[in-house]
Amino acid sequence: MLYIEGLVKRYPTGDLALKGVKLAVPRGQVMALIGPSGAGKSTLIRCVNRLVEPTDGRITLGNAELTALGSAALRQQRRRMGMIFQEYALVERLSVMENVLSGRLGYVGFWRSFLRRYPQADIDAAFGLLERVGLDHFADKRADALSGGQRQRVGIARALIQDPDILLVDEPTASLDPKTSRQIMRLICELCSEKGLAAVINIHDVALAQMFAARIVGLRQGEIVFDGSPAELTADA
Ligand code: ADP
Ligand code: ADP
Repeated sequence: MLYIEGLVKRYPTGDLALKGVKLAVPRGQVMALIGPSGAGKSTLIRCVNRLVEPTDGRITLGNAELTALGSAALRQQRRRMGMIFQEYALVERLSVMENVLSGRLGYVGFWRSFLRRYPQADIDAAFGLLERVGLDHFADKRADALSGGQRQRVGIARALIQDPDILLVDEPTASLDPKTSRQIMRLICELCSEKGLAAVINIHDVALAQMFAARIVGLRQGEIVFDGSPAELTADA
C-alpha cells in the first residue's frame, strides 16, 4: 500500500532529519512510529503527504508515485490520505459539522468550505461519522466550545469523510490527558479496523503505541532502529 524507499530529508538549515529510510506499510496495517523528539517522525509523515519536500527517495501509495507528482495530481492523491494532527487544526469559528465537511475538500484549502454548499449525501456522511465518534449532539456547536478530546474526535471524523486509504496521524494525543489519550488511540485503531484502513501514527508515548498498534517502528536520528510487534519491542528493551 505505502512504500517508502531511500527517503532522505535535509532541511535548508543543514539538519539531516532522515538518512535513507525504507519502509512498507501493507493495506489495513496500523503502524506506530516511535522515537525520541527530533528522531524524524514528523518529517517522515510530512514527506508522505509532501507538506515537506523529500531531498531524495521514492514514496508510492498504491500505484501512484507520490514523489513524482505535480501539484494537481498531488491534490488528488492527498484525498487518499487522511491527516490527523496534534493540535487538531480545526477552524475554531466554524461548527463541528462544518469542520467535518471541510474534509471533503481534501487536506489543502479548508478555507474554501466557507464558500461551498454541500450535497445532502455529504451532510449525511458527516453526521454518521459524528455519531460514530460520539459527537452527534455537538454538530452545531462551534469548534472552540469543545474539549481537547472532543476536538480530536472532530479531527478524526474530518479525516475519515474523504474515505481515505491511509491515515497519517501526527502525535494525536500529545495535548491530551492520559485517559483521553487512550480513548483517542482506541478510537483511531478501531476505526482503522472497521474500515480496513492503514495508518501511520507518530507517537512518542511507547506504552500507548504498544497498547494499540499492530506494528511498531522505532526511529532514531533519522534511521529505523526497530521494526516489530509490541511484544518484540518489550523483549528488545
Ligand atoms: P515535534 O517534535 O512534535 O515534531 P517540534 O517542536 O520539533 O515538534 O517542531 C515544531 C515545528 O517546528 C515543526 O513544524 C517543525 O518542522 C519545526 N522545527 C523543528 N525543528 C526545527 C529547526 N531546527 N528549525 C526550524 N524549524 C524546526
Ligand atoms: P520528531 O517528529 O521525531 O520529533 P522531526 O521530524 O520534527 O522529529 O525533526 C527531525 C529533525 O529535523 C530535528 O533535528 C529537527 O530539528 C529537524 N527539523 C524538523 N523540522 C525542521 C525544519 N522545518 N527546519 C529545519 N530543521 C527541521
